Amino acid sequence: MSIYDLTKEELEEYFINHGEKKFHADQLFSWLYEKKITSFDEVTNIKKEFLEIIKKDFSIKSLKILKKETDVDVNKYLFLLDDKECIETVLMKHDYGNSICISSQVGCNMGCSFCESGRVKKKRNLKVSEMVRQVLEVEEDLGKRISHVVIMGIGEPFDNYDNVMKFLKIMNDPKGLAIGSRHMTISTCGIIPKIKEFINFPLQVNLAISLHAPTDELRSKLMPINKAYPLKDLMVVLKEYIKVTNRRLTFEYILLDGINDREEDAKALVKLIKGMNAYVNLIPYNENSKLEYNRSSGMQIMKFYDILKKNHIQVTIRREFGSNISAACGQLRSKKEEL
Ligand code: SAH
Repeated sequence: MSIYDLTKEELEEYFINHGEKKFHADQLFSWLYEKKITSFDEVTNIKKEFLEIIKKDFSIKSLKILKKETDVDVNKYLFLLDDKECIETVLMKHDYGNSICISSQVGCNMGCSFCESGRVKKKRNLKVSEMVRQVLEVEEDLGKRISHVVIMGIGEPFDNYDNVMKFLKIMNDPKGLAIGSRHMTISTCGIIPKIKEFINFPLQVNLAISLHAPTDELRSKLMPINKAYPLKDLMVVLKEYIKVTNRRLTFEYILLDGINDREEDAKALVKLIKGMNAYVNLIPYNENSKLEYNRSSGMQIMKFYDILKKNHIQVTIRREFGSNISAACGQLRSKKEEL
C-alpha cells in the first residue's frame, strides 16, 4: 500500500506494532508533507534497518499527470492511476489563496440528470493516497501552498466515507498539510445516514448540500438519490447538523433554464430553508453538448437571487472558473474518453 494511505494515528499504530516509538509517526509525516520527500532514503532520523522495513511495507509513488490545461485563474489536471483509470482535479487561484477541487471516486453512481460525471458509472472508490496525491501533485506543479480543499470533483464523497474522512484528517494534521478544517468543504447530494455520521466527525469541516430543487417532485426528477432520501427527511437531519455542530450550512443550487429557476421555485426554496443557519450558493449551469439542460439567463439568475435576498435568505452567485477549458464537473474526463 502507499504510505499516503495512512493517517498519523494509523502510522503511530504501525510503529507501536513494530516495537518502535510512536513519535516516529510525527517525524515521518513531516518528511512526507513538509519536506515532501520522494524517496524513503531521504529520511535521516529513523534508523536504517527500520527504514528498510518501511520500504518493504509501503510505496511512496506520485500520480502521473496525463494532461494539464490552464486558463487565467485556473489549472485543470488529468491524472493517471495505477490501474489506468483517470481522475481530474481543478486548481482555482483566488485572492485569498489557492483552492483545489478534488475527485473522490472513479465515476459516480448518483446519476444526477444534469451532471456529466454521472454518465460514467462508478468504477471504484479512490484510495486515501489517491486523494492526498492530487493535492501534493498540484502543489508541486504550482510551486505554491494550497490553502483550501473542496471535495466537489467527480464522485460522491459520502459514498466513499471512510477514505474521505481519513483524507481530511491528513490534510488537517499539523504535521500533514496543516490546512485549517474551516478551509475544507465536502459536498454531498444528500446521503442521510452519512450526514448523520458526519455530525460527529471531530473536525469542523464545512458541509455543502447539492439541493438544486425545492420540492420532492422536481428534485426526484433531477436527482435519483431524492427517492431514497427525500427532502422532508433530509431537512430534519440538516437541522440536526446545524444544531449540534453550530456551523453554517451551504446549499448549492444550479440554475437550469425553465426547470428550477422560476419564481415559484425561488419562493418554494425560501419556504424550505427559511430560518436555517444556511446560505444558498447559486451556480450558473455549465452547459455541455450531451445533456439537454440550458443555463438560465443572467436576468433570470438575478431575479431568483432577488427573491431570496428580499426574503432574508443569505445568497451568493458562484464565480465561474475555467468554463473555457471545461474545468467544471466531469467535462475533462468525458472529453478524454472521446479521444
Ligand atoms: N457528489 C457530490 C460532489 C460532486 S458534484 C455532490 O453531489 O455534491 C459538485 C457540484 O457540482 C454539485 O453541486 C453538482 O450538482 C454540481 N454540478 C454538476 N454538474 C454541473 C454542471 N454542469 N454545472 C454546474 N454545476 C454542476
